Amino acid sequence: MKSGKKSIFPKIILLFMLLPLGIPFLIPEIGLAYSGVTYQLIAKEKIVALTFDDGPHPIYTPQILDILDQYQAKATFFMIGSRMEEYPDIAKEVSARGHLIGNHTYTHPDNLRTLSPKELKWEIDQCQLSMQRIAGQNTYLFRPPRGILNQEIIKIVQDKGYTIVLWGICTFNRSAPTPEMMATRVINYAHPGLIVLLHDGRTDFRWKDVVATRLIVENLSRQGYRFVTLEELKPGNKPH
Ligand SMILES: [Zn+2]
Repeated sequence: MKSGKKSIFPKIILLFMLLPLGIPFLIPEIGLAYSGVTYQLIAKEKIVALTFDDGPHPIYTPQILDILDQYQAKATFFMIGSRMEEYPDIAKEVSARGHLIGNHTYTHPDNLRTLSPKELKWEIDQCQLSMQRIAGQNTYLFRPPRGILNQEIIKIVQDKGYTIVLWGICTFNRSAPTPEMMATRVINYAHPGLIVLLHDGRTDFRWKDVVATRLIVENLSRQGYRFVTLEELKPGNKPH
């Protein structure tokens, strides 16, 4: 009798063959996976890492901070350097309230693959300088805009001492146009160590992420989940 499961095994074998070679491999909910890039935390206990990209934003970021405080939740904000320059008080506030800030480039280029190595390094360095000067943080966590990578980018970023972090699930998806649907996607997929991608800036409809954040944190807190930063992924830190 043939079952659907049968066809999975060659794929798993292929995955283990390809990952050490650095060849990207397609996995569900994630897309192309690269070796040496973090997609989730290794954890047995009920912890989830919420991450917010593209801020700081003068309205949405403070709203998210208030929700997180209400549930004693901590999160990681991958900020754009030029936005930190524009809204330094918000970036400072994120840091002061115990959250981690990560590097999301200085200008958020649409596709890092089109940049020269020199331009890529400038994007990273400028963002890091803003982060240090404004928020007093030096986290060496990097997330590429739109998750776009290739082997050359990975090597340049890692050679600079950064840990590259993507995510296990993103709330922004065509199949989830409402905040309720965005939250449900995450809640249904929740498992220990899950890294969730939300957004707090760059467009005007991030109010949806604010509402979704509340629903996610409310529901998963009730299920006994804790919300942690990506602190343990900082270079030099021991795994969880
Ligand atoms: Zn982004």
